[in-house]
Amino acid sequence: MREMLLCAKYVIPVSAPHIDDGAVLVRGDRIVEVGARAEMIAAHPSETIRDFGLAVLMPGFVDLHTHLEYAVFRGAVDDMPYTAWKMQVQAKGSRLGPKDWRDSAVLGAMETVRSGITTIADITRLDHSLAAAKQAGLSGVVYREVQTMDKTKVAERMKAAEADIDAWTCAVAGSPIEVGLAPHSPYTCHPTLFQAAAELAIARDLPAAIHLAGSRDEYDFVRYGSSNLAQDFREESGWRDLAWLPTGVSPVRYVLQWGLFKVPRLLAVHCVQVDEADVEVLAENHVAVAHCPRCNAKLGMGIAPLPLFFEHGLTVGIGTDSPASNNTVDPFDEMRIGLLLQRGSTRDERDFFRYFTARTFIRLATIHGARALGLEDEIGSLEPGKRADIVAVDLSASHMVPTADPYSALVHTANQENVSMTMVAGRVVYQDGSHPTLDAERVLARAHEVRAKLRG
Ligand SMILES: [Zn+2]
Repeated sequence: MREMLLCAKYVIPVSAPHIDDGAVLVRGDRIVEVGARAEMIAAHPSETIRDFGLAVLMPGFVDLHTHLEYAVFRGAVDDMPYTAWKMQVQAKGSRLGPKDWRDSAVLGAMETVRSGITTIADITRLDHSLAAAKQAGLSGVVYREVQTMDKTKVAERMKAAEADIDAWTCAVAGSPIEVGLAPHSPYTCHPTLFQAAAELAIARDLPAAIHLAGSRDEYDFVRYGSSNLAQDFREESGWRDLAWLPTGVSPVRYVLQWGLFKVPRLLAVHCVQVDEADVEVLAENHVAVAHCPRCNAKLGMGIAPLPLFFEHGLTVGIGTDSPASNNTVDPFDEMRIGLLLQRGSTRDERDFFRYFTARTFIRLATIHGARALGLEDEIGSLEPGKRADIVAVDLSASHMVPTADPYSALVHTANQENVSMTMVAGRVVYQDGSHPTLDAERVLARAHEVRAKLRG
């Protein structure tokens, strides 16, 4: 069985204090041992050594929210608030064919592994993200998206989703990818669709995900029946003639009524427009949250109340969302901007020391993300027996030197280009600019071709 000893100036296991001059022993797809470099080399003298030098070895990032197939939309719809952005992306998306979506997803998967992300939670309408994730060597959950506001179409949409879930499950057999179900959001799903989705997810033990309480427009739509989501968006989506009444409650309490929170492994994406009672509902129902700070800020959705999440014991990880909204799939930017937004908006200085530290955000992007997907026994930290999902982050570039604290360096100075190696289950899927599983040149060339269709 393939073995190697990975060494670096810093090893951050996340589950334990960091090790100066550390090493990680990998055998096959597992981590065997984590410790001090000198002792590990002495104990395993015949081992092949891979030395990353002035770098951090750490668990791969867990990205709790991706849409790989939207990678080619990078910068295509910028500088717009949420609903206007959503409508533009939807309109432009209709110009792309299946092969375009597929190649766009491969671009997304390529950037993802290059950024040190080893596990994704991707929501997709078609199987393109699934194929791309598999090709890139990623692990995670790919959720089949389902939506309709038309009650008469719910049964048909659910039947199609279930057939896809069966087919996709066969397609990923033997890979570290699991298939789930994602009723899109409160403004695109009829309540009976939430009921049917909950029933299916529970009956088949599927993980599920939903975009929830993201924008103020969504909040106003659910509670008051107003906002652009009630008019322009419904018209464009072909739901103009379907009745929608104000519900009088928040998006979280609305979805609660329809049973979706009974799904054991439910991931709620965004959760920005929530009050303390909503957070209590999420906590009581063990709903995990994908926090997407940069996308939320860029589209003017707001800033999620992280201290409330922590106080109520919610499981929270970090999501990048798609390049259509967020422009890059960069977990470093996400940690940094997420932390700064909280610091910049807090009125309680104690929160700095309680929650808003570099270490906390590294935990959110690794072990807490793993917990949100129910995978904390398998990934999220460097521990013997866990899967060898490991990344190396180089700290030798001019903007990184000198480095005194590796946590601070990762959160406050590093970016996606500093990742020098990404390993999933003991297999190197990205290294020093090269992608062993992908034809990078072709992927980039196709991205330009597909992008030409989105102009204007
Ligand atoms: Zn999304």
